[in-house]
Amino acid sequence: MTSPPYSVDLRSDTLTLPSSGMRKAMYEAPVGDDVYGEDPTVNELQDYAAALLDKEAALFAPSGTQSNLLALFAHCDRGDEYLVGDNAHTFRYEGGGAAVLGSISPQPLPMAFDGTMSLGDLEAAIKPADFHFARSRVICLENTHSGEPLPLGYAEAVASLGERRSLAMHLDGARLFNAALAQNRTPAALAAPFDSVSVCLSKGLGAPVGSVLVGSQTLIDEAKRWRKVLGGGMRQAGVIAAAGLYALKHQIDDLAQDHRHAEQLAQCLTDNFGDSAVRTATNMVHLSLPEETYLSLAEHLGESGIRVGRPRWVLHRDISSDALAALCRAIQGFSTD
Ligand SMILES: *Cc1c(COP(=O)(O)O)cnc(C)c1O
Repeated sequence: MTSPPYSVDLRSDTLTLPSSGMRKAMYEAPVGDDVYGEDPTVNELQDYAAALLDKEAALFAPSGTQSNLLALFAHCDRGDEYLVGDNAHTFRYEGGGAAVLGSISPQPLPMAFDGTMSLGDLEAAIKPADFHFARSRVICLENTHSGEPLPLGYAEAVASLGERRSLAMHLDGARLFNAALAQNRTPAALAAPFDSVSVCLSKGLGAPVGSVLVGSQTLIDEAKRWRKVLGGGMRQAGVIAAAGLYALKHQIDDLAQDHRHAEQLAQCLTDNFGDSAVRTATNMVHLSLPEETYLSLAEHLGESGIRVGRPRWVLHRDISSDALAALCRAIQGFSTD
């Protein structure tokens, strides 16, 4: 048998594996046909997520990409547009799905590293009611954006603009629980300015698959119709919903360890490269080094069984404190000459 080539993998928190408690919950989950609305575990997950985020209803989706898409389909008609950051997942990393499948066009706007777009840019991008233009229908924000929580108060400011100009608000909250933890707010408080919020169960929370969309009952009913149209109606989905439910009940608090590890890692990197090269806010550490230096650092770490991708390293529940210590030792052992 060959051993895995890497023992520590910092490419993403999507790499997390189901914990043994989670696997047990999956094994024991009562199931039914969710297309008929008869899977008790899916229903429990949806009720639990709606309550946690203080919205009326929720819908389990196979991925965050689909969950965001369902929200856009529910908010928009053909010929509508959504205002979105030019580096946002819902614009850049979802294959243009809203346009490809929904005849909904994106209106991308410059996005700062913390996920904000200027209120002036947003206001100026909202089209007047005139048949020359697409109908501006939704503003889409992301929290966290590449590990950076939206500044407190920003979503409220955008929501009041949205309300004044009659636009709905959607949040891609793939890592909303990380933002809530870093800012010492409840997830419901961060979700409050939005009509719809998508959260990922399969990132740092550790479920193998799935996302949840929350919003009003009317919005969720519409999203459920589109989920079926897109082929996302699943049958005995309780087997995977159980993992998500377990994550929400038992693994949210574990994110604190990822944030602590990110700070420790940032400290090791700062000791080696200086603090202007390192930034962290939640579970990600961003490194800005000359490309050549970064590539040789990545190679050096690879020799110690540590795998990194681009210079955005992601801490997650399967990176133990021991693994972190080994990582710091490997960083200390790196020199550019
Ligand atoms: C991971 C992620 C999603 C959803 O991605 P899937 O791989 O489709 O689950 C959406 N937004 C952000 C910011 C993400 O990081």
